[in-house]
Amino acid sequence: VRHIKKNAAARDLWNQIFCRLKEREDATLWDPNYDRSRDRTRLRKAFREAGWSEAEAEERIRFHDDFDAQAPEPASGINPGAQVLYQKLWTDIEAAMDRLGLQSHHTVMHGIEPLGGPFATKTNVIMTNESIITVGAHLFRFCGLIARAFFRTLWLNPYFWSSDNYDKLEGELQLVEDSDLSLYWIYSYLSYALTGTNAYAPFKPAKRHEISFEQIARAMEIFAISHEYGHHDKNHGRGIDLQDSHAEEFEADQFALRICQEVERYPVLFANPYLPSGAGGAILLMAMETLRRVQQAIGTIDRPIVNTHPDVLTRIARFDSVAALQPAEFLRLKNFRTTAVRIMSAAETIMFNLVSPEDFAKLREFAVWVPTSNNLWR
Ligand SMILES: [Zn+2]
Repeated sequence: VRHIKKNAAARDLWNQIFCRLKEREDATLWDPNYDRSRDRTRLRKAFREAGWSEAEAEERIRFHDDFDAQAPEPASGINPGAQVLYQKLWTDIEAAMDRLGLQSHHTVMHGIEPLGGPFATKTNVIMTNESIITVGAHLFRFCGLIARAFFRTLWLNPYFWSSDNYDKLEGELQLVEDSDLSLYWIYSYLSYALTGTNAYAPFKPAKRHEISFEQIARAMEIFAISHEYGHHDKNHGRGIDLQDSHAEEFEADQFALRICQEVERYPVLFANPYLPSGAGGAILLMAMETLRRVQQAIGTIDRPIVNTHPDVLTRIARFDSVAALQPAEFLRLKNFRTTAVRIMSAAETIMFNLVSPEDFAKLREFAVWVPTSNNLWR
């Protein structure tokens, strides 16, 4: 049954916001007249290097083109791929909410902000119960980069990361011994810290056995967006009383976990353990935290850790309350979260071991992006 949305006020407000954002000097817009044949040449080369045959490379390029062609607003200046992906993700989330008997998504409007940086946010439409849930135009690329790096790190030694005799130093050594992979992590974080986009990140498409990195990216994205639906569903930021912002974050996380589990009850092709385990959410939260620390080291954010958000590891520890599971299932899923935390911590340690404070400071002059809010996760 297709429901009618009651989001007319949110729609109006979003149109105004979008027009204003587009005029900004730091707006990141897609030029519709841009010659995409250059991209295709680059893609072809990258796919061939990743071990795909010529026919397979062409098929993948066609798949990308068909995907982009579904963009609901091709002329908006927003990357068409991001438009299609966002629509697919929120459609999955709202379908899960329908199955859970939740109605609040009827008053949600969606938008993509033409700004740098990976973020998702909720804007209240005053005097109504409507909200606009937006993502930054570069959120999905960020998730894709981190998911690839994560997957490659996991495959250095798949059983080691979740084993009982895991050793932190040993994990870091395994990662640093793969210098290509270490650099991939570093460039991904630096690119986002300096430009808010993937401009400086190396383009290394997945090899044949790496396709399931997309599962990780999807779990990160669904968590990010569902977290904002959680703030909307719980009416956060609307009361007149002073709110407990930490409690609100925990509440939005729990909501996101519930949605991730429900989405996964109808898997796309293959089971995705990164959804019901919350490992996708853990990877995302830790990636955002590392990015923020990198920006602090570079000096583009000067204020220390913002107090409105609880500590990331405290947030992830609360994921253990994905209760109502069989003990064996609980343990299996917890292992995914444990692995997520270990790999993300190792990557952060490598980052700060290989790049010196002086080098970070020197990079400052290359920074073209400073987040409008010092809170990357709004
Ligand atoms: Zn939040």
